[in-house]
Amino acid sequence: MIKEIQAKTVLTHHEDAFPTNWDLNPYRGCTIGCKYCFAQYSHYYLGFDDFFKNILVKTNVADRLAIELKSKKWQNEQIKIGGIADLYQHAEKKYELLPQIFDVIKKHRNPIFIQTKSTLILRDFDIIKELSKYTTVDISVSICTLDESIRKVLEPGAAPAIQRMEMLARFKGICRSTTLAFIPIIPLLSDNEKNLNETFRLTKSLGIDNIVTSFLHLRNKGKASFLETIKTHFPHIYQEFSQLYTNSTLNESYANTIKAKIVKLRNEYDLHGVFVPVAKAVQPQQLLLF
Ligand code: SF4
Repeated sequence: MIKEIQAKTVLTHHEDAFPTNWDLNPYRGCTIGCKYCFAQYSHYYLGFDDFFKNILVKTNVADRLAIELKSKKWQNEQIKIGGIADLYQHAEKKYELLPQIFDVIKKHRNPIFIQTKSTLILRDFDIIKELSKYTTVDISVSICTLDESIRKVLEPGAAPAIQRMEMLARFKGICRSTTLAFIPIIPLLSDNEKNLNETFRLTKSLGIDNIVTSFLHLRNKGKASFLETIKTHFPHIYQEFSQLYTNSTLNESYANTIKAKIVKLRNEYDLHGVFVPVAKAVQPQQLLLF
């Protein structure tokens, strides 16, 4: 179900920068359908039960953004577009809200950060290229595995990871920075030597500027739901996987082993770049999660 709504405000502030303090979400709900999506439970607060199917479209998002950017209180801080739902999800094909948003951003020369799993962003390649002449545009793409059989289960509506990485690389030299978010790393599924090595090797060979990493967190309702996914689709690892998540975070000793491999890969491929926001700068270590 797609429901068009009129948003009263569109810029959302949060204290913890990830990686910016301001979010703009043209959509609520997300058809990309990642099984590990931490945002899916936010939908209950809006009175909808299925984050992956009930999509709210803020059709007035560009008009509202123009008003909020004109406010005397606004300090031109960097805005992350699509923090809680992918900005280039399927509905964007029809609604074309992003070109309207970019037009407003260009007029105000406001820095932005874009993160997506969708190759639909290439539709707006020329617009983003032009926008980058007026303001800072940082772009990030997230992936968790290069193994298509696993990706199809965990991220059914996303493009294959290799396509996402190649797409990200096309923005190199156009946007201020290109960052691969190797997030979440999922124990026993995406932390094997082959996936780790290949992800770093491709990041380097494609010329992507940065790579940030973080393990899967399993909180509240998301934990039961994700464990059910593992039980259904990857029964051979279910028992071991469950034991690695006796609480919401990955078993520390196991995590340290993977962290050490990642440090080694960072050294091997000389990938120490970190993403630093334009304004309200956070310490780079916060984003270089390990
Ligand atoms: S793309 Fe992002 S918002 Fe959409 S389902 Fe996946 S993790 Fe959630």
